[in-house]
Amino acid sequence: AKVMVLGGGGREHAIAWKLAQSAVVAKVYCVPGNPGTAAEAKVHNLALKPTDVDQVVAAAHALGIALVVIGPEAPLVAGVGDALRRAGIPVFGPNAAGAMLEGSKAHAKAFMERHGLPTARYGRFTDAGAALGYLRDHPLPVVVKADGLAAGKGVVVALARAEAEAAARAFLQWGPIVIEEFLEGEEASFIAIVADGQVLPLAGSQDHKRLRDGDRGPNTGGMGAYSPTPILDTAMSERVLREVMRPAAEGLMTDRTPYCGFLYAGLMIGPAGPKVLEFNCRLGDPETQALMMRLRSDLYTLLLTAARGDPLPKTLDWDSRAALCIVLATAGYPDHPRLGDPILGLNKTQGDTVKIFHAGTTTEHDTVITAGGRVLGVTALGESLSIAQQRAYAAVADIRWPGLQYRQDIGYRGLRRA
Ligand code: ATP
Repeated sequence: AKVMVLGGGGREHAIAWKLAQSAVVAKVYCVPGNPGTAAEAKVHNLALKPTDVDQVVAAAHALGIALVVIGPEAPLVAGVGDALRRAGIPVFGPNAAGAMLEGSKAHAKAFMERHGLPTARYGRFTDAGAALGYLRDHPLPVVVKADGLAAGKGVVVALARAEAEAAARAFLQWGPIVIEEFLEGEEASFIAIVADGQVLPLAGSQDHKRLRDGDRGPNTGGMGAYSPTPILDTAMSERVLREVMRPAAEGLMTDRTPYCGFLYAGLMIGPAGPKVLEFNCRLGDPETQALMMRLRSDLYTLLLTAARGDPLPKTLDWDSRAALCIVLATAGYPDHPRLGDPILGLNKTQGDTVKIFHAGTTTEHDTVITAGGRVLGVTALGESLSIAQQRAYAAVADIRWPGLQYRQDIGYRGLRRA
């Protein structure tokens, strides 16, 4: 079978790599992919825009694609899933209506309220007067969020009232905002395959969103991740399934929103249990890199089963080892990434416990150069989280370019609990 993967980041490299391992997959086409996917056996890049609906549908028809897997949020929110389904092409990734869970925070909050999912108390505002009134006697810290997709830049955790007011005014220029209660606890990522009411959980994972060690500094797209994570033990995972994932899948059915794709709950796990910070309608990056290293089940068969609406297996087969992914970023990331530097040390053979996934890379005169803020995801398997961490950092030491930056402490929360 031929599969198409939309997207060109580290997440899509990991998905394409895993799909290509399936014995029934003859070819994986990445749209547009990156130099990492281009180097994989059975994988081809197509220089098309994943959000260009007409071109994607035409290419999928012309190539006889059996399944399209949509990686990033932008094509999902833009309705690429709807267009492919209308064209009769099996697709894994929700329609635009389902993707609203990620595309609008106000929509997600209303959905959670309607279906009784645990989340922070909130208010939604479209004008400054009402927002500032709500903030006047709100306890601190308080969280102010822009409603739409903002690539991680639309959230301010304000410690002072003036800061919250400034954020509210700034975000209101772009559209509605959400103001919500600050939640204490530890963040974790719970991702499931949701196919019209069926819920099949993936292994738990945790990412590190902040730029600097100790989870300090600005928010980023993610600086590293690992799986499994002790905070999502069997009991907590059961609880998240019961209190969050199943009610979400049922809520989508009740709302008559067909949903076939990954559903990602960004959780805050605190004294009162798990609460949903956000939903994403896709896999997380870099959680995917760690998860795909551990997944043993055939990803193609699984996603095709979901796309067809057939019964999903009850569980997935995971490597019992831990996987840990370290993101290598450029100088100046996230605000002003320095691009265009040749990457040295990429060709060193790593063995089968280490995999280097490409994200922001491109080739120039046969040299791989930096082309995005997050460049590589160096991912390792280990018999324990600590061994996975050591292996990943040992592999990172081989790679160089001017201004390369990465966190030194990926996995520390998991190690602290282990
Ligand atoms: P991304 O898409 O990068 O995951 P986002 O822009 O969708 O992020 P959120 O995930 O809602 O925004 O929030 C970003 C971060 O802000 C969270 O990972 C969390 O650290 C913090 N945060 C958000 N809401 C709360 C809250 N209610 N209490 C405490 N921290 C919060």
